[in-house]
Amino acid sequence: MLNFYVRILGSSSALPTSQRMPTSQVVFYNNTPYLIDCAEGTQAQLRRFNVPMLKINHIFISHTHGDHIYGIFGLLSSYNLMGRKSDLNIYAPTELESIYSTVLNLNNDELKYKVKFFPLNPKGKVLILQNKHLSVYSFPLIHSKPVWGFIFEEKQKDKNIIKEKIEEFNLSISDIVKIKKGEDFVKADGEIISNNLLTIEPPKPRKYVFCTDTLPVKSIKKYIENPDLLYHEATFANEHKDIAKQTMHSTAEQAADIAKLLYAKKLVIGHFSSRYKKLDGLLREAIKVFPNTVLAYDGNKISVGEDDIKDDKNDLEE
Ligand SMILES: [Zn+2]
Repeated sequence: MLNFYVRILGSSSALPTSQRMPTSQVVFYNNTPYLIDCAEGTQAQLRRFNVPMLKINHIFISHTHGDHIYGIFGLLSSYNLMGRKSDLNIYAPTELESIYSTVLNLNNDELKYKVKFFPLNPKGKVLILQNKHLSVYSFPLIHSKPVWGFIFEEKQKDKNIIKEKIEEFNLSISDIVKIKKGEDFVKADGEIISNNLLTIEPPKPRKYVFCTDTLPVKSIKKYIENPDLLYHEATFANEHKDIAKQTMHSTAEQAADIAKLLYAKKLVIGHFSSRYKKLDGLLREAIKVFPNTVLAYDGNKISVGEDDIKDDKNDLEE
């Protein structure tokens, strides 16, 4: 199976701490990195965790609060210094384009590569990128600024042919191609061999969902079902539920409610308020509602689907 995992680069909310940077993460699929949000310090974190920076061709920005975008100016500028030639695709709220253009102009930084800018659409679930392996969708969340979540969904693979059947029925390459797409096989004497006798089902497509800086939004259920992994912000503990509501954020328990509602397989919570020195309280509150929850920490690598990655662990802080 092709690798599919998330590398957390920043797990703090607005204020960085000595251990945690603000929001940024990389989704890897088949060793290709896709960057989500680009807080202050993202470049340093990319280097720290050995993410091949020039391989990033797609950047997704959830909203234009500083703690999600202050790193984009430096990154765009560094790509010049690094001799970037390939196009960079940015999927972001409309206003981001003028924000980074203004900052780069101030510095007379003329980009020597092409940035293709794709404004996000506030109307429901929208397909924003698709390639051989993945479809990426945006969908609106609810915060003090327009904000979007992202869905990274693996494409449905063809069926797998049972090897012995190739010999048994003397199947040609073109027969195999058709059978893998689901067709039955017709023998020379007209006998029909049903597809389910020739194939085994491919693995179910895996799905990652990113929800940050939002009130808990139950209506996203209409866009998302059974994600293998859900990242949901959990800025506050229950004791600060009122502040969460005022600032349009979620508590750990509310994040867990959403994971339960979507029938997620696993939840990772992040975007923690720097007021919490220890996060075990938030984790406990989430686990009560949704047991398969882990805390994000900077550098954390979490697989989407099959749990085959070593440092994907549930670590209560001491
Ligand atoms: Zn925000």
